[in-house]
Amino acid sequence: MKSYGWDVVQNSHSSACLTLYSEEGNKKLIPYQGWVTGEAAKKLFDAAGVPFDASMAATKKKGFKSFPLKLKTSIASTNEIEFGESANVVGMIPGVTLKDEYIIYSAHWDHLGIGQAVAGDSIYNGAYDNATGIAALALMGRRFASLPEQPKRSILFLALTAEESNLLGSQYYVENPLVSLEKTAVCLNLDCYADYMRTGDVVLSAAGQSETDNYVIEAAATQGGTVVINNDNSTGWYYRSDHYNFAKMGVPIVIAKGGNKYLDPEAAQAYYEKYHKGISNYPQPSDEYHEWWNLSGTLEDIYLFYGIGLRLANDGYFPKWYDGVEFKKLRVKK
Ligand SMILES: [Zn+2]
Repeated sequence: MKSYGWDVVQNSHSSACLTLYSEEGNKKLIPYQGWVTGEAAKKLFDAAGVPFDASMAATKKKGFKSFPLKLKTSIASTNEIEFGESANVVGMIPGVTLKDEYIIYSAHWDHLGIGQAVAGDSIYNGAYDNATGIAALALMGRRFASLPEQPKRSILFLALTAEESNLLGSQYYVENPLVSLEKTAVCLNLDCYADYMRTGDVVLSAAGQSETDNYVIEAAATQGGTVVINNDNSTGWYYRSDHYNFAKMGVPIVIAKGGNKYLDPEAAQAYYEKYHKGISNYPQPSDEYHEWWNLSGTLEDIYLFYGIGLRLANDGYFPKWYDGVEFKKLRVKK
């Protein structure tokens, strides 16, 4: 069950739905899959005589297993199946002394393409989601490349495809990694860095999972920032961006961005009132770049990520998952 609105489902699925191609021709895919609204789902449960609310509550409990509703239906639809290719794009700065150890910066380059028109506009630009992340990769790549002394470890800049289609690009990458995942110290994923002014706080998500927390806290301190922990995963965000596929393979991750304690709260309020009033860009065609974007806080967060990666690229340490974290057993022992 998803917590976002039906419009998000509609906008994300009104163009082609992608899936990875498998050698046996995707024959293992279930024959028909799709979305239904909560309302429609309730009707289905009612028809099957299965209590809806209790079943939804059960999905949140550990050990939940799916079960058939024992309903029969006939569905007809006309679909076209196309085979196509898309690419993950990667750049690497080879390390000097620890060449076969890696830091990954990832961001997804895809968005929703052309979809349902909103106010006459059908092009889903995805400036915030996630041209900002891709711009950050380019910026950091340039910065690392211009260092007088190259880092000890190698750094991969991974522009992933098909994040908006169930994270397929990152799934493909972790199933077919270019470099050893065991020797990948961390994945720093950048997704949705909006325009925002500088803040005195950094929100650290997925905290308490691995020693990467310390790197974020210490990097934030060098910027004079405090760290605020936000582990509220009620929207399921943890499973909805590319870092999740890395975590599932045991690679520690970092998710952090500026909070809302603006250094200049009055200016921030004036900025938001002037430019953002009533604008909800995600995931609309109106998610576009504007000349008026104030990226001072966004840039600071990119420097935060740069600092964390630079330190990990030189200290030769493999951050560990904490005991009890489900991804720990997936990490090959270092
Ligand atoms: Zn995104």
